[in-house]
Amino acid sequence: MSTETFGCLYIVPTPIGNLADMTERSIQILRSCDAIAAEDTRHSGQLMQHLGIRANLFALHEHNERQRAEQVIERLQKGETIALISDAGTPLISDPGYVLVQQCRQAGLKVVALPGACAFVTALSGAGLPTDRFSFEGFLPAKPQQRRKRLEQVATDTRTLVFYESPHRIVDTLADMVTTIGTERLLVLARELTKQFETYLSGTIAEVQQQVLSDSNQQRGEMVLILGGAPEVEADDVNPAALKTLNLLRKELPLKKAAALAAEIHGARKNTLYQLALEQDNQ
Ligand code: SAM
Repeated sequence: MSTETFGCLYIVPTPIGNLADMTERSIQILRSCDAIAAEDTRHSGQLMQHLGIRANLFALHEHNERQRAEQVIERLQKGETIALISDAGTPLISDPGYVLVQQCRQAGLKVVALPGACAFVTALSGAGLPTDRFSFEGFLPAKPQQRRKRLEQVATDTRTLVFYESPHRIVDTLADMVTTIGTERLLVLARELTKQFETYLSGTIAEVQQQVLSDSNQQRGEMVLILGGAPEVEADDVNPAALKTLNLLRKELPLKKAAALAAEIHGARKNTLYQLALEQDNQ
């Protein structure tokens, strides 16, 4: 069969709260496709009912994606059109779909991704923190030790950082941010976007933490954390002797250890030395 008679996989975003955020084109594709792969067929069945679409839904989630991908590919090769949706927002963004899209591309099949609702893009565009350079970090690890380690790894990143967070972990995560990043960086907590209780809390990490601790309603619902980037460090800000020690130690030790030792010897800030070394490496 020639590839021209193959079908197409459509990646279709669904609302993150407000059902009116479904685009006309998305509705049209869901209405006309042969089948819809959904993360949770019961959940998506309700959306289809709301849209008045008699859909042929089947489940594709993180536990069966590999096996389902093979079946989807066979169907696409027979000429069918299939849409992929997740429970909310854009599929593949902290949601299943990567394996399927990668395998479809590898098989030379057509994949068309539609634009639409996505929580982190919505939060970022409404937060009032720099958007020229940012890093989407997805969910932080659930285990405290790994979460703190990840936060330490990104602490000196000068880009705006975007995290998804669960209401069960928000209090612990804010405490971990204080420990690993400090109290003074700017932070925005964007909650319940597009829904009735949409809220943006903003301030320093300490201020946002205070607002969340003093009002348990702020610990509820769906949330995105947007952290302002670390300030750029200039070589002039650092004691030249500390920098010299750091560069000597780096020849024998990993950067993190070298920065910690050089900081201790010269009474400098470990993170500043570490960040400066990274910036120099990137020049
Ligand atoms: N695919 C989705 C997207 O495009 O944003 C994300 C799916 S991920 C499993 C779910 C997480 O997205 C939530 O835990 C929360 O961090 C974020 N999220 C989803 N809807 C949201 C909303 N209405 N307001 C704030 N955050 C939301």
